[in-house]
Amino acid sequence: MFKIIKKSKIDKARLGEIQTNHGIVKTPIFMPPGTQATVKAVGPDDLSKIGIEILLVNTLHLHLQPGEDIINDLGGIHQFMGWPGPILSDSGGFQVWSFSKNRTKNGQNLAKISENGVEFSSPIDGSKHLITPEKSIEIQHKLGSDIIMAFDECGPDSNDKEYTKKSMERTHRWAERSLKKHKELSKYYINNGKKPPLLFGIIQGGIFEDLRKESAKFITSLDFDGIALGGETIGYNMPKTLEILDYLQEFLPEDKPRYTMGLGSSPFDIIEVVKRGVDMFDCVGPTRTARHGSLYSGEIISEKDEIKFKSEFEKGCLRISNNCFKTDNAPIDKNCDCYTCQNFSRAYLRHLYSVKESLYLRLATIHNLRFMMRLIKILRSNI
Ligand SMILES: [Zn+2]
Repeated sequence: MFKIIKKSKIDKARLGEIQTNHGIVKTPIFMPPGTQATVKAVGPDDLSKIGIEILLVNTLHLHLQPGEDIINDLGGIHQFMGWPGPILSDSGGFQVWSFSKNRTKNGQNLAKISENGVEFSSPIDGSKHLITPEKSIEIQHKLGSDIIMAFDECGPDSNDKEYTKKSMERTHRWAERSLKKHKELSKYYINNGKKPPLLFGIIQGGIFEDLRKESAKFITSLDFDGIALGGETIGYNMPKTLEILDYLQEFLPEDKPRYTMGLGSSPFDIIEVVKRGVDMFDCVGPTRTARHGSLYSGEIISEKDEIKFKSEFEKGCLRISNNCFKTDNAPIDKNCDCYTCQNFSRAYLRHLYSVKESLYLRLATIHNLRFMMRLIKILRSNI
């Protein structure tokens, strides 16, 4: 189901193809998160025009509302959200972590982790829920995602080594339980002449080299279709992420897709991980910053096998709220072929943003996502 088409001669980058039940995903690939079964502010027609190939949806959010049974009864996640292409769902491990980290009710932790799974109170209505590895896999099968993730405990960097080790070992046991449940549910597909979704395992181990290596050895020894790197560090602390990728190289199998979870808050982080042989990444960064007024602007240049970015703006982003754009008739980015840049000026976008018109959110999201896909296109052609 994963084929390497080409390998770079100068680094570890590779071009690949993942065969899913809803078409081929070319790699390297950026996957925009569609948490609530929608990429905020844009529709499937926009996404197709931007060149998006695969979306990510969040299991825990969809489990809480509308519920996987409703989605299943309505024909599955693709039909429900009107997106015919491939979809990856996360396992809920990250969301559970963010509940326990950020959300407390009357000073109490909303999530309680035990060997069995995670018990938490819904942030919507306070109702009690238990997510086990088996439950997570069952929800993802009911959603009908093309790529599903093993249930893990996503640890923060602040955890000490003792806890990180305990949590990693539990994640390993959860990986085995996820795999077992997946195999059991997959029989239904196989008996009906269909292909089951692909299941990816997740390497944890925090910021500790020996634990990351131990986790990589364990997760890659299991029969997963792809290998992901999880934890707060990944994508959040880029120097550490690159260090982890460097020392894990020898442990990552060549013939399976590699996915760094939650990476891409700066588009240029992607260049660094692609060089290290990563095939897939997702991040709320590009769409979230667009909605908050930061739009990528500058030239992506491919020079002597290096990709560089030249921009007149700090960090390559213009702040659309700036007064200087009040009468600026230029597009966000003169090099961009997106619908927004082809049809609207900075002055118009600044106006929409100032008066809080919802069209701003759509036009800004289209531009930042198209920027990511142009970068992906250049990365692929460089390989
Ligand atoms: Zn544009």
